[in-house]
Amino acid sequence: MMDADPEIDSLVQSEFLRQKQSLELIASENFVPPYVLQAQGSVLTNKYAEGYPHKKYYGGCEFVESAEELAAKRACELFGAEHANVQPHSGTQANMGVYFTVLEPGDSILAMDLAQGGHLSHGHPLNFSGRLFKIIPYGVDRERETIDYDEVARLAREHRPKMIVAGASAYPRLIDFKRFGDIAKEVGAYLMADMAHIAGLVAGGVHPSPVPHSDFVTTTTHKTLRGPRGALILCRGKYAADLDRNVFPGMQGGPFMHVIAGKATCFLMAMRPEFKEYAAQIVKNAKALAKELDARGYRLVAGGTDNHMLLLDLRSKGLTGKEATDILGRVGITVNKNMIPFDPEKPMVTSGIRLGTPALTTRGMKEKEMALVAGIIDVALSESQDRSAMDRVAVKVRDLAGSFPLYPELKKGYYF
Ligand SMILES: *Cc1c(COP(=O)(O)O)cnc(C)c1O
Repeated sequence: MMDADPEIDSLVQSEFLRQKQSLELIASENFVPPYVLQAQGSVLTNKYAEGYPHKKYYGGCEFVESAEELAAKRACELFGAEHANVQPHSGTQANMGVYFTVLEPGDSILAMDLAQGGHLSHGHPLNFSGRLFKIIPYGVDRERETIDYDEVARLAREHRPKMIVAGASAYPRLIDFKRFGDIAKEVGAYLMADMAHIAGLVAGGVHPSPVPHSDFVTTTTHKTLRGPRGALILCRGKYAADLDRNVFPGMQGGPFMHVIAGKATCFLMAMRPEFKEYAAQIVKNAKALAKELDARGYRLVAGGTDNHMLLLDLRSKGLTGKEATDILGRVGITVNKNMIPFDPEKPMVTSGIRLGTPALTTRGMKEKEMALVAGIIDVALSESQDRSAMDRVAVKVRDLAGSFPLYPELKKGYYF
């Protein structure tokens, strides 16, 4: 590879170093196990396999279709679902597959407001979802900053949406999927739960599962679930044939068989007892980080966290989310700016940042290190004008990252 394309090779090496030497606190990111990396770099990438196992449109699919069957079977076992489609290339496409299965253009969807924690594919005006469907947004309670379920029920009764979407990209508390299921039943709406962020926590038993309460469950496979970039749809058996048809040929061509093999491995690993420990540690770490930041005077949206992420409101520190993201980036801490509920700032500026613990937990960090991370964040944000303080902080980041090595020598971390 080096000979073939030194420019790209050098960029890949630089990115590898960046990942090794920095502290990854982006809530949607993780480090896949080496075997998942291998699967994605394997010869499976060469294979066209349009269609579904035993009904493929191409010859030579006997091995890749077995991998696909294995992935789907493991996904059903892991989440207790009746049917799984493992072909969607991304979470957005998984949601598209579900919408196309039961909705017509112009139908209405009740979904979480993007500005309060929802996702682009839940109705952003520039996303296909907002262009094709009529979106009714719900949000969080102004005081508690948690989902206002009474408001969701009221909107559902008033608008009678054809579908309700439960799930978020920036929400630090548990989601009451049972309550969503009851509301959907009452108004005769389909319930789609999008558990992209929390799938690993659901798999590990530290977040209640949406599967028993939902018609469809979508998820990415690369966030807390720690598999390859891609997605998965789970549904009840009665929707299986319609769903599959709407994924292929409805909205995709050939599935990525190398990624599907990686998904199969990811589901297998998530069934191991060690994954339960990993998921529990993600939440312990998030709670520890929240506690330490709270003690340093940072306001936590919704008062804390039950899952893998926290949202910090930086207004009292006199910083915007954009400024804080840039400052932390300078010392090697990667986060993203994020709107907080009822944010007075624009989406490109924001008043908050979102922090997540899945990636650092994969590296083997525990509560003790979360205290160090909180201290580092606080010094960087408070003393960003002081060059020597920032230099000292950057060294601390490198030292901490260096003592929790990443590939190929990850030892203390959570691969098994
Ligand atoms: C991350 C995410 C997705 C989809 O992500 P892709 O980038 O399209 O893979 C969908 N829904 C939610 C709630 C998410 O957080």
